[in-house]
Amino acid sequence: MADEQPIRYYKPKSEFKLDITDIQNFVYDMSRCIKCKGCTWVDHTYMPGSKFMTRCPSAAKYEFDAYGAYGKLRIGHAMAEGLLDWNDKALEVMYACTLCGACDVGCKRNLDLEIELSLESLRVKAVKDGVGPMPAHKKIAENVAQSHNIYGAPHQKRTAWIPEGITPAAKADVLYFVGCTASYLNKEIAQSTAKIFKAAGTDFMLMPDEWCCGNTVFSVGLFDEAKALAQRNVDEVRKTGAKTVVTSCAEGYRMWKADYPKLLGISTDDLGFKVLHLVEFVDEKIKNGTLKMKKPLETRLAFHDSCSLGRLSDPWTPYEGKREWMGCVEPRLKRRRGNREIYAQPRDILKAIPGVNLVEMPRTRENAFCCGAGRGAQEAYPDFAKWAVEHRLEEVRDVGVETLVSACPRCKNNFAQAVKASGGDVQVLDISEVICASIEG
Ligand code: SF4
Ligand code: SF4
Repeated sequence: MADEQPIRYYKPKSEFKLDITDIQNFVYDMSRCIKCKGCTWVDHTYMPGSKFMTRCPSAAKYEFDAYGAYGKLRIGHAMAEGLLDWNDKALEVMYACTLCGACDVGCKRNLDLEIELSLESLRVKAVKDGVGPMPAHKKIAENVAQSHNIYGAPHQKRTAWIPEGITPAAKADVLYFVGCTASYLNKEIAQSTAKIFKAAGTDFMLMPDEWCCGNTVFSVGLFDEAKALAQRNVDEVRKTGAKTVVTSCAEGYRMWKADYPKLLGISTDDLGFKVLHLVEFVDEKIKNGTLKMKKPLETRLAFHDSCSLGRLSDPWTPYEGKREWMGCVEPRLKRRRGNREIYAQPRDILKAIPGVNLVEMPRTRENAFCCGAGRGAQEAYPDFAKWAVEHRLEEVRDVGVETLVSACPRCKNNFAQAVKASGGDVQVLDISEVICASIEG
């Protein structure tokens, strides 16, 4: 037939790197998506019924295939091949997404494609092509450049959260990285964390001049700006001589542990210090008998797995190698599958508190449904974020708990606002507050 288009066969790029600054590294992954939608549904062997079977907030909210990972990849592939240009709808498809990693975990049960990295790379491409990020993201990047926090709040007030009776050490093995949200909005999380260090008998220091971790800047594709922040923050910590950086923010944890190494082209092991989330620190202290959960908390609670604490925080190792047909790679690539990280520790902590009845929601651990707050989605698409958090709250209400606990200020904030707006009576707490309430008793 005269007008038949030739079929384009996409050969795997034989040499490739896990480098998100070049979309060509992910053409194989984008072209090999078979549209099976394993990235949309929670694991079938585990699916807890039809009400809560979706794992992708973007596809579930917009109810159109373009918004699922398979749609984003098809669009991204056409762009990488020069067959499609950016337009307003394509930008919405790419940015009305929380980069929550649920699709990546789902796909790696199946085809071992690098979905999360493809989506990150497409945002870097949007910036390079001069169309991204979205206006709300540019404002955040400006705030970070000018006042070193995402809110544009006065930098000199960053340490105003420090409570009476707590004095950070001038030098200590543990450095507490507070993050923008716990420094300015949810100070109770920073204060509870400081009290937990005190109860554990652990001296902690702060960065001499803490700046934003760069989570939003990185997530929206501003790679160069995020890399500069990563280098600055890592250098500052190295100068302090700290052995361990502890965060109470899941997004900050992901940045320090996985995305700083990714930005800097090094392994997590090469940072020169360990990175822990508060729950790892506390879990260890409970298990070695240093911290005791004393005061009973008579409550039925559910734990929300933050995406950046679980499926997005596998350690990073740079990779450069060759790919063959069927995706085999040489040397062997140890895949980041999102199922090995921080799932047990928060649950073990909560179960160690007398009186607590921990109830699992239908979607937990790597199948958890994102609250909608992360990676620039809430700022650019607030209605999407509201929809996602409301959908997750429906699940919270379905299991009939009194308290919802998370381990990230961004999640707490999003849930608390949604509960307030709907007049609900679910109490929303950060895990640091729950721990504090039990050790203080
Ligand atoms: S699970 Fe992977 S292969 Fe299947 S539709 Fe999703 S991205 Fe494509
Ligand atoms: S990162 Fe999350 S919101 Fe974005 S496509 Fe994947 S599952 Fe959907």
